Amino acid sequence: MISYNEAVKSIEKEFNTIIIDIEEIPLEMASQRTLAENVYADVNLPPFDNSAVDGIAIKFNKDITKWNIIGEISAGNFSEFDFNDNSAVSIMTGSKIPEFCDTIIPVEDIILYKQSATIKDQVKIKTGMNIRGMGSDIKSGELVLPENILLKSRHLAAAASCGKSVLKVLSPLQIAVLATGDELIDVSEKPENDKIRVSNTYALCSGIKELNQSPLNLGFIKDNRELIKLRLRKVLSSDVNILITTGGVSVGKFDYVKDLFKELGVKEIFWRANIKPGKPAFFGIFEVNNKKKLIFGLPGNPVSSLVNFEIYIKPFILKMYGMGKIEKVSAFLENDLNKKDNKRHFMKAYLQEDGGGRYHVTSHISQSSGNLVELSKSNCLIEIDEKKLNPRKGETVTCIKI
Ligand code: AMP
Ligand code: MG
Repeated sequence: MISYNEAVKSIEKEFNTIIIDIEEIPLEMASQRTLAENVYADVNLPPFDNSAVDGIAIKFNKDITKWNIIGEISAGNFSEFDFNDNSAVSIMTGSKIPEFCDTIIPVEDIILYKQSATIKDQVKIKTGMNIRGMGSDIKSGELVLPENILLKSRHLAAAASCGKSVLKVLSPLQIAVLATGDELIDVSEKPENDKIRVSNTYALCSGIKELNQSPLNLGFIKDNRELIKLRLRKVLSSDVNILITTGGVSVGKFDYVKDLFKELGVKEIFWRANIKPGKPAFFGIFEVNNKKKLIFGLPGNPVSSLVNFEIYIKPFILKMYGMGKIEKVSAFLENDLNKKDNKRHFMKAYLQEDGGGRYHVTSHISQSSGNLVELSKSNCLIEIDEKKLNPRKGETVTCIKI
């Protein structure tokens, strides 16, 4: 059985080699998408010297403190005037500055009387003040937005200023989710006897959506070798980027999924890693038409499959799509924990910030990997490494926010 670190490394390696489609979308649709091109300035920004304030435009002369106002320039309505050192024009923020002028005095710093402007006492003026110089934000041809950033409002303004009405962005990953298990029934049905409602596919599809990717909920099928084989063959030949199955990868008599993956040509990268919960997870790759798919056969337990998703899938999608990292914080442990083996554990827990920037984490809850109610009450996973045993109250532990 491989270690957690080896498992994660091998997954990262495969994520790094998958090819993501690129699509072109209108600028107004680009928010929260990942930029797939470098955006360069096609003009100087700002495109012309302009005023940073409402005021008067003058030519600086240390001996002059009073000017005749010979005209007015508003943003978008430029005109030249016949200037001399004693003249000024009234000018609005964003307006182009006349050739002759080199200084803008804010309206708050002058006294206006009829057609003249006098500088207020105590006000110091400096040549060049309040001018936003042509190209001072960025020069034509320079890089404005680098590829692989998650586009937010602030980026769209920059793209718009560079004339990008259409942007290249990464297409979302198509991620199929298929549950297996004879015990599964639909959510709308009432469980009788030995049946349970299918639940983990909803958690996984929601996790996929939260990452801005496209989940494809394929529902659930029985633990029937032929049925599963048919279904898997179909998904493997489709154009999904990632397939996540749940159930059927342990060592039970009817755990067919792992063997079927291999039978259908999926190359095993690992099966089982030294973690808890989620040990039985299978990871492999499948290539069709030179395109690689990542195949995750996760255990059926809702807690295990979601923990597997959080540690095996989410970090790499975040990275590929410029969305940062999973959030890990150090926290003060509020109660003793039981950990008696040498696995890496991910324990459901409740994390709180004390208002002063310190985190406290409590985990009185059941660590059963079937307990999805406790999972719903928790907001983090305490990550405890292999060698550490029985963490005690008061120790500092690492928590992954979920
Ligand atoms: P398996 O991985 O197939 O051995 O299943 C492990 C446990 O998870 C069993 O108790 C199953 O009943 C449960 N389980 C399997 N699939 C699901 C599912 N889709 N939703 C909720 N629980 C499941
Ligand atoms: Mg099963």
